[in-house]
Amino acid sequence: MATLTFDDLRFHRKDSNTVVVEFLGNYSFEVDAKALSSIGTYSLGESSIEFRNVSEQEARNSFNAILNEGLGDLTNSTTRKKTLYVHRYSGIPLLGTTSFGIIDRNTNMIEVRPITGCNMNCIFCSVDEGLASRKTSEVIVDEKYLAAEVRKLVEFKGCECHIIINSQGEPTLYKPLPELISDLKAVTAVKTITLITNGTLLTEKLIDKLAASRLTAMNISLNAIEPKAAKIMEGFGGYDVEKVKKMAAYAAKTTIKVTLAPVIVGGYNDAEMEKIVQFAKEIGAAVGMQNYLFYKRGRNPKNAVQVPWERFYAELDALEKKHGTKLIFEAADYEIIKTRPLPKPFRKGQTVKAVVVAEGRYLKEYIAAANPVAAGLHGRQLPTCAEGRIITLPDCEKKLAAGEKIKVKIVSDKHNIFYGEVV
Ligand code: SF4
Repeated sequence: MATLTFDDLRFHRKDSNTVVVEFLGNYSFEVDAKALSSIGTYSLGESSIEFRNVSEQEARNSFNAILNEGLGDLTNSTTRKKTLYVHRYSGIPLLGTTSFGIIDRNTNMIEVRPITGCNMNCIFCSVDEGLASRKTSEVIVDEKYLAAEVRKLVEFKGCECHIIINSQGEPTLYKPLPELISDLKAVTAVKTITLITNGTLLTEKLIDKLAASRLTAMNISLNAIEPKAAKIMEGFGGYDVEKVKKMAAYAAKTTIKVTLAPVIVGGYNDAEMEKIVQFAKEIGAAVGMQNYLFYKRGRNPKNAVQVPWERFYAELDALEKKHGTKLIFEAADYEIIKTRPLPKPFRKGQTVKAVVVAEGRYLKEYIAAANPVAAGLHGRQLPTCAEGRIITLPDCEKKLAAGEKIKVKIVSDKHNIFYGEVV
């Protein structure tokens, strides 16, 4: 008899022919029951599977084959979209795209994006995430792989760094978030870690775990105080603003610095600005208001107006004076400094060899990986994350298959974020 037990998997039977395997809470794949029976007579536990009349080694080898196939066929349970699992052995680098992984804009602030996908549906979402997103797929990155690659980048920079976990989506949907924060904080040069969240999935237990993992700050996008306005802003009738307020108040009592960070959409929630400042004062949180901006690929609500910057700052200034709360911030407030730039392994205009790794997040989009060896740049062996890059191939008319070798002309390379065309 062999009992295989897993930390990240949960099993349940869908029907007599199908077993559902849940991965990291929010992802799943289905297994044909016959494939499991072919290993041996089996029974399911919540996070284990027991095979009779087979050795542990045999059971493990056979089940791993099923697992590998399943992890290549994940579905996100929140958005019901197929999901790409990016791990150390996937051949997918973590630099090169804004969708997931690591974004380095040559400063000591590193953006870390462990997942895509969101449980809300904000009417102003600049990255078009959430339940009504037009994107066709999701991504999840293995925690250990992500933490290790961030560490290499921080070490390459050779200075104190600030990490912002700001997924194109909701990062609290990422089950190993406390472990990720803990592993990043273990890097000596990581000074602060800030989490950007919509706050809907926060619980006292999760907040305690995040504080224990040494999260420095949490920006909660509380966009309105009045329930009706809040539901409209979040684009979701089930949004519970009272719960988010309660969790913000709880978090503000821990070691985590809480900032309420609403997006102000003219004509929608400008009347809520003062109420948000008042609530922040009550719970001891800071406020970082953002002005709504029109994004071509984002969601832009009907009749929404971008408040002119002059008026936006005048309103912040008036509220600052009235409530004695700092609302206007400058670059110097964030301790952001320029760092030596991470070399670009290739440049705009160059043609490079790459491998298609998956369909992209939009229709007719693909993700390719190019892994030129960049050893020796700047006189030192660069970490592996500096060697490979993702290249996004948007609006690709040609049908490509994962694993296909292609040549790509780089059309954009800003900040090591690459877009290309198949040639
Ligand atoms: S919570 Fe953030 S990512 Fe999610 S829909 Fe709203 S703005 Fe977009």
